Amino acid sequence: MVKIKVSTKWLKKKFKCDKDMIQQHCKGKCCKGFNKVLICLLSEETKKLKDKFKKCKIENNKIIGIRNECFFKDINGLCKLHDTPYKPLGCIFSPFKINKNKTLIIRHRYIRFPCFNHKDGKFAYITFKDSLIKIFGNKKYNYIKKKIEEDNGNFYIDIDKDMLDKINILEDMKNG
Ligand code: SF4
Ligand code: SF4
Repeated sequence: MVKIKVSTKWLKKKFKCDKDMIQQHCKGKCCKGFNKVLICLLSEETKKLKDKFKKCKIENNKIIGIRNECFFKDINGLCKLHDTPYKPLGCIFSPFKINKNKTLIIRHRYIRFPCFNHKDGKFAYITFKDSLIKIFGNKKYNYIKKKIEEDNGNFYIDIDKDMLDKINILEDMKNG
């Protein structure tokens, strides 16, 4: 286990992300813009996706998009891999980032999307609850929620070392 800090301020930024929002408004904006495409995969994910989806082009552990869109995005902007065991970790974790100070924050580009500060938005730790549960597990998610609700500023939490390593590999690929 490795200790990281959680930024209460960042996790209390408000977002609205649900089926309706995606289909009617954003069309999956955070899955767009991949000209040379850059949905980074762990090597085990590359293997799994290549075995299952022969038509998906993957090079150097990156999904190659089609006309700036991810191969797995449907015409309404929804992810065809959502709620399947094939959804890449990088996509699951994507609204979040562990920065150089080992602090869990929201990835900056998300504050440019229409879901940010939406009038019906909820705190990021609620809107992106499923992502946090997949990374930390239920018990720690409940701890994160409780600590944020207590509102006593930033706090620390343990993250599985293997999970952190994977997140760091993906982050390095994005920046590389
Ligand atoms: S996080 Fe925002 S931009 Fe991404 S799918 Fe949800 S509503 Fe759209
Ligand atoms: S795999 Fe799904 S979540 Fe990831 S970029 Fe493609 S459509 Fe978006």
